[in-house]
Order: sequence, then structure tokens, then C-alpha cells
Amino acid sequence: MTTTTPNTDVREFCDVCDKKTAHAVQIELRVESTKTENQEFSREPYRVSTCADCESTSTMRMNHV
Ligand SMILES: [Zn+2]
Repeated sequence: MTTTTPNTDVREFCDVCDKKTAHAVQIELRVESTKTENQEFSREPYRVSTCADCESTSTMRMNHV
């Protein structure tokens, strides 16, 4: 299983294009803390979507609720 394969079937509203466009969506795990200890607890999943039209990227933090 890989998290690097973008899902290109998603259509979302793009602020730059001001319309719904196709987006490539990836989930990235980013380490927020600079501490080496407890690092496995500080990785937060981010949803990164890239507009197929203008290639602008929007990043949204995914909180586990
Ligand atoms: Zn766009």
C-alpha cells in the first residue's frame, strides 16, 4: 500500500480557477514536532489536493475526530 499514488478522480472547487476542477488528492503524513522522542505520535495526516488546471495546491489537516 502506498500513499504516493494520487487519486485523480476527485472534483473539487478551486479558489484560483473559481470553479470545480479535477484534483489529484494525496494523503501525506507530516511530522509536526522537531523532537525526536514521541515522533511517532506527532505525525499528522494532511490531505493535499492539487488542481489539474492551475496546479495550485491546497493542504488540509485531517484531524481524527
Ligand atoms: Zn485551479
